[in-house]
Amino acid sequence: MDHFLYRDGALFAEDVSVAEIAAAVGTPFYVYSTATLLRHFQLFDDALAGTDHLVCYAMKAASNQAILRTLAQAGAGMDVVSEGEYRRARAAGVPGEKIVFSGVGKTAREIRAALTDGIRQFNVESEPEMDVINAVALDLGVVAPITIRVNPDVDAKTHAKIATGKSENKFGIPISRASEVYARAAALPGLEVIGIDVHIGSQLTELEPFRLAYEKVAELTEQLRSEGHNIRRLDLGGGLGIPYTRSNDAPPLPVEYGQLIKDSLGHLGCEIEIEPGRLIAGNAGLLISDVIYVKSGEGRDFLIVDAAMNDLIRPAMYEAHHDIVAVKEPAPGTEMQPYDIVGPVCESGDTFAKQRNMPRLKSGDLIAFRSAGAYGAVMSSEYNTRPLIPEVLVNGDQFAVIRPRPTFDEIINRDTIPEWL
Ligand SMILES: *Cc1c(COP(=O)(O)O)cnc(C)c1O
Repeated sequence: MDHFLYRDGALFAEDVSVAEIAAAVGTPFYVYSTATLLRHFQLFDDALAGTDHLVCYAMKAASNQAILRTLAQAGAGMDVVSEGEYRRARAAGVPGEKIVFSGVGKTAREIRAALTDGIRQFNVESEPEMDVINAVALDLGVVAPITIRVNPDVDAKTHAKIATGKSENKFGIPISRASEVYARAAALPGLEVIGIDVHIGSQLTELEPFRLAYEKVAELTEQLRSEGHNIRRLDLGGGLGIPYTRSNDAPPLPVEYGQLIKDSLGHLGCEIEIEPGRLIAGNAGLLISDVIYVKSGEGRDFLIVDAAMNDLIRPAMYEAHHDIVAVKEPAPGTEMQPYDIVGPVCESGDTFAKQRNMPRLKSGDLIAFRSAGAYGAVMSSEYNTRPLIPEVLVNGDQFAVIRPRPTFDEIINRDTIPEWL
């Protein structure tokens, strides 16, 4: 559920007309709904009610500080995967003790920054990384709290680029070696082993892979405890999928996911962490674009729009589907016609949708890409020297630009020309 609905024939973001925002900030732009962000966070928080837990928003999904602060004020922690994200979360007001640090390639510099300014835990992904965290912690005279990410060798049944829990993926240590690696970690004086971490992939549309992974985590918890480790926190990652179309089978709900967690792990008495990203932000954001040209091709019509693959790369990168709607609501009974919806970038990959049924549109009409809140703005680039597009946050009847569109001068002046030229 989201808060982007038609009202009197026009698309609204909460109580603000999308066309009104477009008139104020220009297209293309991203717009997020505070109410939807909070609702999704609350669904997870409620799903784990009665269990000691922390919902750590995986901020790589959408990392604008206004979004982070909105969620942090509701009680969310953060899952970060780089020093930049760590600093961004701190700048948004998130205390170190609510930030977990994930990622396969944390550098000594990143580890030092987090240990210096405060961190809830590192989710360690390899033995060499374990040694570096230990060394940095000893150098700083602190003890680093860690979990170790285990790879449970479970098929997440999702797109290959976002599956992370199979043995061939680069993530975590094989669960079969956990015993050995935990023993090594326990012997390092700069580390305190507090738990286990697992994350098997993104956009999972079934509970079964989670169940298989969490059963393995439960077994491992008992085993590691019997080997003398004080396992008291389980970080279960993110990955719950969202409906990208309104027609297909809906993925499981957070409440069902929470129940699965309680059923498979509740008896262990551990503190539970989850790291949802996509489900919190995905359907809380739209990408709004304007039709530049309608071009008639051979046997097909193209809508050439002012958003492009550099603004929203998911269709090009993951063959992702986004529902696309007209901002002006089509009257009931309006005849639909198929369009290929494409951006202006000079490659055929810059195609958002093929033969998509839309009402007849003309130059200057606004369209909205739904479910664009996660892995949208954060993955954008300035390819073709197209400025990063604005982000707008709506809250009730107010809206604010939370990242302005840079000027061309700002972009161009970032380059420096060497003296010899
Ligand atoms: C990407 C990621 C997440 C978030 O995944 P979603 O599918 O967006 O919920 C959580 N934890 C880790 C370690 C990740 O890499």
